[in-house]
Amino acid sequence: MPKIITLTLSPKQASDAKFYTPLVARELRIKESDIALLRIVKRSVDARRGALKVNLSLEAYIDKEEQPAPLHFDYPSVVGKPEIIIVGAGPAGLYCALRLIELGYKPILFERGKEVVERGKDIAKIQRNQGVNPDSNYAFGEGGAGTFSDGKLFTRSKKRGDYNRALQRLVFHGASPEVLYEAHPHIGSDRLPRIIANMRDAISAAGGEVHFERRVEELIVRNGRVEGVIAGGDRVEAQAVVIATGHSARDIYYMLHRSGVRLEAKAYAMGVRIEHPQQLINNIQYHRSPEMEYLPSASYSLVAQVGGRGVYSFCMCPGGFIVPALTDESESVVNGMSPSHRNSPYANSGFVTEIREEDFAHLSEQYGALAGLVFQQQLEQAARAQAPENQTAPAQRVADFVAGRRSTSLPKCSYVPGIVESRLDEWMPKFMSSRLREAISVFDKRMKGYLTNEAVVVGVESRTSTPVRIPRDRESLQHPEVAGLYPTGEGAGFAGGIISAALDGERIAEAIATTVES
Ligand SMILES: Cc1cc2nc3c(=O)[nH]c(=O)nc-3n(C[C@H](O)[C@H](O)[C@H](O)COP(=O)(O)OP(=O)(O)OC[C@H]3O[C@@H](n4cnc5c(N)ncnc54)[C@H](O)[C@@H]3O)c2cc1C
Repeated sequence: MPKIITLTLSPKQASDAKFYTPLVARELRIKESDIALLRIVKRSVDARRGALKVNLSLEAYIDKEEQPAPLHFDYPSVVGKPEIIIVGAGPAGLYCALRLIELGYKPILFERGKEVVERGKDIAKIQRNQGVNPDSNYAFGEGGAGTFSDGKLFTRSKKRGDYNRALQRLVFHGASPEVLYEAHPHIGSDRLPRIIANMRDAISAAGGEVHFERRVEELIVRNGRVEGVIAGGDRVEAQAVVIATGHSARDIYYMLHRSGVRLEAKAYAMGVRIEHPQQLINNIQYHRSPEMEYLPSASYSLVAQVGGRGVYSFCMCPGGFIVPALTDESESVVNGMSPSHRNSPYANSGFVTEIREEDFAHLSEQYGALAGLVFQQQLEQAARAQAPENQTAPAQRVADFVAGRRSTSLPKCSYVPGIVESRLDEWMPKFMSSRLREAISVFDKRMKGYLTNEAVVVGVESRTSTPVRIPRDRESLQHPEVAGLYPTGEGAGFAGGIISAALDGERIAEAIATTVES
């Protein structure tokens, strides 16, 4: 059995094994040379008041002790096994496919977007203001919305599935083992594409099918049971269809609505992206400590109640970039990503307020369950009207936004297509802008210097969660009125983030295994 040691260290001591290995040896009263393997099992930074500390939990394997076996996932051949259709190759769809293979089913994945390398080229075009491919962009394509992201792997919904197994699967497919022990693990936009491609190769090698540029246009339902889909004009049948299309696929909601599949409106959140110089956030969070250089770019997580509603930071990307996450040129939608080293000079975060059904009640009569979706689209279009040139986005300095005055200039910003000065409060619904402004003042009390004109707000952060739920039965996880239809992931309203979507996809695979004979 390895020995478990917990140390509280300075950032410098924790930064390199050459500093902490002698401390472990001293603690265990052994020679350093007796340690055959020392591996971190948990690392967290404690940046609360006073000196900065790093808590390290380590496993020490001494001398000839048996060492841990490398991670392995076994994907048996599923050639000839029952076929299950999965619509969408995001985290929910991919994890569902891999788990189905483990359980002896053949997944057939349809993805509207391109494979990850070709998709990267379309994303580069968006950044260069060369137009948006509506099927291949930051939201659509292999790996889904999280492929060109910060790749944060933290989730509050760890209980919904085997969180550690989900992380181990990523490591098996090429992620750094660090994700297994960091308190807030992340991968980075430069590394995610390779991992996603490895997952696809594993699916294909086991006999599963992955079809790119094949948008599912129709669901075939007869007598309350799903029979298959129409994808790229072809009819494809299966005993079960998994809908893992994410929350940006508005056409899927319209298609389901048209087909008489019951949907439900739900509360969600919208706002802006806020960006500060990373150095400013480091100084606030790390108290200008001289040992800051040994720590990663600092992050934050803020929440306030304003006028009875939650306002909160969301998907914070230290050392990252604001990106154009639109799926149609008529909209302005922003989001954030970071490379693995999180080393850009900018710190951006979603900064959003709750949107409740009462806020879009005026659209309910006309659009029913899709009213929230229409409200979301209207805000995105209002933002585009402020910055009509290509993929530029409307922006305002933060102190000006709070004071309700025009910005006479804008600071440097990581958003490559470019930002355009605009008074956000003049076109955003007042209930949103007033709450966002008040929350910035509240946050400034917790992080002195947060309210500054060095920072900028960019519009709009509208795709945080889905405004529409595709309901499902609690036990069978199928749509309550359509047997064999399994809604999953963020688009169905059962996940928020890469890992929670992945866990939900695995759950669906396990539910299918209880109803479809293998
Ligand atoms: C820029 C950005 C950064 C993000 N950063 C993070 C982060 O750091 N950490 C985190 O946890 N989350 C992050 N997110 C959110 C995260 O990506 C999502 O929560 C997650 O990807 C949801 O997974 P999903 O599988 O449910 O849906 P998605 O990832 O949205 O995947 C859905 C897939 O379905 C496909 N599809 C849609 N319609 C059809 C159709 N009709 N036919 C065939 N295919 C279709 C789409 O092309 C897409 O590939 C980020 C999102 C973005 C946009």
